Amino acid sequence: REKVLEITSVPIMQGENKLGTLVILHDVSREKSVERMKSEFVSLAAHQLRTPLSAIKRTLRMILDGDTGSITEEQKDLLLKTYASNERMISLINDLLNVARIEEGRYVYKTTVTNIKPIVEFVANGYASDYKRKNVILELSFPEEQLPSVKIDVEKVKLAIENFIDNALKYTKPGGRVIVSLKKNGNFIEFSAKDNGAGIPKEQQERVFSKFFRASNVIRMQTEGSGLGLFIVKNIIEAHGGKVWFESKEGEGSTFFFSLPIAEELQGFLGSF
Ligand code: ADP
Repeated sequence: REKVLEITSVPIMQGENKLGTLVILHDVSREKSVERMKSEFVSLAAHQLRTPLSAIKRTLRMILDGDTGSITEEQKDLLLKTYASNERMISLINDLLNVARIEEGRYVYKTTVTNIKPIVEFVANGYASDYKRKNVILELSFPEEQLPSVKIDVEKVKLAIENFIDNALKYTKPGGRVIVSLKKNGNFIEFSAKDNGAGIPKEQQERVFSKFFRASNVIRMQTEGSGLGLFIVKNIIEAHGGKVWFESKEGEGSTFFFSLPIAEELQGFLGSF
């Protein structure tokens, strides 16, 4: 029968002499199987919810577009709010599915060697109207020289960039400013999003990348969020051989960073000149 064992080994010493080693085998099969079932349940439930939520989205879009006849301003206002709630549910379901895939080891990476700058520009452009609506300045800061390529799964890294730019907007008050930068640092390309928003309380900072974590100050702000985004980002970036970190001061702002290794093929190629 398949078993999952957790193994701990401890040397047994008498003064300087090693008498032997104590090896403890702990059967954690049950815990692992419960964990797997939990993850499969979340995956299944999320999948089942996605189809009806997409159907609701299509129907709302049709009514809003006037395909079923004209609607009053009041009806439009209510439908737009429903549409936004539905979108939030879809995004939560997508986050849950991504977490389940990560935990089941099914988060496949399709990598290509590419330049990250156009990807960052594309994502930032997509957020331009949201930033404008909230009156937060979004600034892009890139080095003048061409950055070396990285070997990435474009869709997954896009998710990571989106999460940082989205959080920076979400946790910054109107009138604030966000600076999104790219730079080369040794053998890595560093991406960062710096804001002058809410910041994260010091005593809660070590939990920022854990699943479902939401800091007390943002819960008070009553912003929407699942606390899954940064957990997903950390997994994406680490699977690429990169790192995620941040600097933050409550009430002053935060800077979130991730680094990605420069594509090795190109390093070798450039080195030969
Ligand atoms: P969500 O934003 O959905 O709550 P995330 O995993 O993206 O989930 O972020 C987790 C928590 O980290 C947030 O709830 C917030 O407390 C904190 N956080 C993340 N980014 C920022 C930021 N730019 N400024 C302040 N707090 C942040």
